[in-house]
Amino acid sequence: MVFWSLSGFIIGTVLGSLAKAVADRSLIKKSFWGRSSCPKCQHRLAWYDLLPILTYIFLKGECRYCHKKIGIQYLLVEVVTGILVAYLFIQSFENLRFSLPAGRLQSILNFQSSIFLFKLVLRTFFVTVLVSLFLTDIKKMLIPDRIVKPAIFIGVASLLAITIYKVGYLYYYLSQSVIGRKLLPPHSEYFYRHAFLTAQPFMGSILVGLAIGGFFWGLIIITRGKGMGGGDVKLGAFIGIMLGFPNALLALMLSFLIGAVFSLGLIVTGKKHFGQVIPFGPFLVLGSLIALFWGNEILNWYLHLGY
Ligand SMILES: [Zn+2]
Repeated sequence: MVFWSLSGFIIGTVLGSLAKAVADRSLIKKSFWGRSSCPKCQHRLAWYDLLPILTYIFLKGECRYCHKKIGIQYLLVEVVTGILVAYLFIQSFENLRFSLPAGRLQSILNFQSSIFLFKLVLRTFFVTVLVSLFLTDIKKMLIPDRIVKPAIFIGVASLLAITIYKVGYLYYYLSQSVIGRKLLPPHSEYFYRHAFLTAQPFMGSILVGLAIGGFFWGLIIITRGKGMGGGDVKLGAFIGIMLGFPNALLALMLSFLIGAVFSLGLIVTGKKHFGQVIPFGPFLVLGSLIALFWGNEILNWYLHLGY
């Protein structure tokens, strides 16, 4: 478990550093490819200038070449993303231990662990994109198409790939035994029914993505573009696709709740006045992270309140 959480943390700090670079570059419309340079003196950075957390500590928060201060936000983003991914790894590992089949079938084990790894990578990707969009929206009130559009594409393609893999495995598994072959078409409807069940989460994800995107779209039309933007539509769709039903809806409710509490706090403390615009993306990100980590617990708790 220590190894597991430590690797999660290290991978997370690297992804945090990447998320920050992608966020910064998309705001100044710089290419995502090519080497990083110091934003102050433009000096090209070597690999040892780009080690997450360590570089910051060794250089005492200064650029090696021009000695100007590196913002503390670099360190913060790396540490926070490290913690998020470490927690994701720990949680996934615990879920894996609960869901492993009792039977010792090697093929099922391999199947399960490949699905497990695939999903873990996809969730880590989700967290990284959320961190990046959190940064751009806080800094410039912008959710760049250059990040959110490819993210939606990768999300849909990955979920589709997982679904096809699961259905394909079911077919292969059934075709391996005499009884199983009896369940395949044209002998029985069994395969079709189970293929449909397997594909349901994917279809649910697409539908929730469309629903949340459409909901924000409607809000923009009703409020005539005050408060929400086209970026929120795409971010909402992305969250819907990645969290699926019903977790994405929970994420949406949580983000409205956090947003309301936060705005109220700003108004009460006199930092903002009523009607002033604050970006909604950061709240969507926070709501999504809570739904990703504790969504099932919250929904269980909520659904059992009535009993
Ligand atoms: Zn410099």
